Amino acid sequence: MSPLTTPEATAAPLTTQELYRELLLRIGEDPTRDGLLDTPERMEKSMAFLTRGYTQNGADVLHGALFDVEYDEMVIVKDIEFFSLCEHHLLPFFGKAHVAYLPKGKVIGLSKLPRLVDVFARRLQVQERLTTQIADAITEAIDPQGVAVILEAQHLCMMMRGVEKQHSATVTSAMRGVFKSQLQTRNEFLSLIRRPGANL
Ligand SMILES: [Zn+2]
Repeated sequence: MSPLTTPEATAAPLTTQELYRELLLRIGEDPTRDGLLDTPERMEKSMAFLTRGYTQNGADVLHGALFDVEYDEMVIVKDIEFFSLCEHHLLPFFGKAHVAYLPKGKVIGLSKLPRLVDVFARRLQVQERLTTQIADAITEAIDPQGVAVILEAQHLCMMMRGVEKQHSATVTSAMRGVFKSQLQTRNEFLSLIRRPGANL
């Protein structure tokens, strides 16, 4: 690939919008036509939104939402919608996250679990790493008896390019502590998130 053709490339670094304009040119478009005039600006804003997880971290999100409790039964939040971008093609993958943990003296405010998923989803990702990062963040925050995270997702990079059947989902899981060592705990979690038609 040849270096950037815009004259500014040698003088000052390109702005993000100039980069997107260049990208539009290179795929064979005319960035000066009406419909595309504001596209570089929109792309910059959109990309900043879709990757805002880089400016956040798990500890900050959970800050002030950790509570001491006696409760030691399983806590489950299922069907957490998430949207991410695959790091190989920068195309979306999206689906549902199911998160569970068995507390050991501390719990996380329930509304914070979707936020935590979002922090890691709004970055360039592979589904496997997204899954383990969520589990690790919960482990670090409250050191529970165990954590389980399952992600079911559809990947547009596979669907749009015809690599995969349109409705198949990729399932990844991270099991920690008792969810890993105790079959009964793991099965309880799985039975609570299972529904007809799902491929879990
Ligand atoms: Zn991909």
